[in-house]
Amino acid sequence: MPGRSIRIARIAGIPVGVSPWWLLIVALLTWVLGAEYFPQEVPGVSPLAAYALGLASVLLLFASILAHELGHALVARAHGIAVEEIDLWLLGGVAKMSGEAKDPGVELRYALAGPAVSAVVTACFALLDVLLPEQSTATGMALIRYELLINGLILGFNLIPAFPLDGGRVLRALLWSRTGRIERATELAASVGRLCGFALIALGVLALFSAYALDGIWFALIGYFIVTAARQEMLGVEVRTAFGGVSAGEIMSRPAIVIPAGEDAQHALRDYFSRFRYSSFPVVDESDRVLGLLTMQRLESLPARALEEMKLTELIDRDPALLTGPETDVTALLSRPAFRRVGRAVVVDERSAPLGLVSVTDIERALRAQRVRASAS
Ligand SMILES: [Zn+2]
Repeated sequence: MPGRSIRIARIAGIPVGVSPWWLLIVALLTWVLGAEYFPQEVPGVSPLAAYALGLASVLLLFASILAHELGHALVARAHGIAVEEIDLWLLGGVAKMSGEAKDPGVELRYALAGPAVSAVVTACFALLDVLLPEQSTATGMALIRYELLINGLILGFNLIPAFPLDGGRVLRALLWSRTGRIERATELAASVGRLCGFALIALGVLALFSAYALDGIWFALIGYFIVTAARQEMLGVEVRTAFGGVSAGEIMSRPAIVIPAGEDAQHALRDYFSRFRYSSFPVVDESDRVLGLLTMQRLESLPARALEEMKLTELIDRDPALLTGPETDVTALLSRPAFRRVGRAVVVDERSAPLGLVSVTDIERALRAQRVRASAS
């Protein structure tokens, strides 16, 4: 989803963020629930109470989505896949992993963990619905029935066999264990996903001309999301196929233009950022060892006065994941969160001296060259 996410919490060491759209959805759902659902289900409820109930329902809904994503994240972590963050957005959530499952069994467990949590949550609300005596408050019942319905929907939606939805991941894991080839399995699962996505869009468009026009919009939106996500996954496969076995040293730009650590930020801006077309530079100490990366973004975030006062060593990004050996596989580099964040890594030799730079642009260029070669042969 577009837009940067806003950090709201940290659970089990995993940062949780929300998309700015999330606030809009909270407001919209609260309004629909407060203006229509609760006044209908709870006769005589005051408008204020109806909206408060609406808000409570929406927050519970997002807690359910978060629980679902935590299910995925904790299983991934148990299998040694690092979890970068959990993002809640328009239609649900995404647990961002750095790296992929190593075998179909892990993928299957990871894919089923989220729906398993949703199934438990749904079952809990169903149990409450059955166990609470009829004479108990209409308010409680209305709230429970809404959560029951919505969690059932989350469960059902995620089990659609449309990769990258959970159901599609299950399908991919099964294909993977059958064929033994993850690329082929991903391609097949993504094709099925794309078909499901187009089917949902078609259904949505048809519904626009019926009494269910509003549901139609949701169907089309979800379909569009699935088609886009499936295309991205296919692109990912193309990159992995193209760069399997290609090392950072083979595609890096040389030589690396470096800034001596003794420079100040003003000079760095004038002599490097204005003169060369790069948006970040490695900063080196007197013995030519890379200390970290200085990015344009960091300089832009500073007040003008700080540019004169601060040393470069205070401004650089020292994340060791931004340095890499020439033999590192490009696909491994692409899955590093630090690389995706900065879009660039410094290739260094064994004593940390700079050899070159690998950027997203370098990778794209190499991919295009590969395509031309493939079509020529
Ligand atoms: Zn899921």
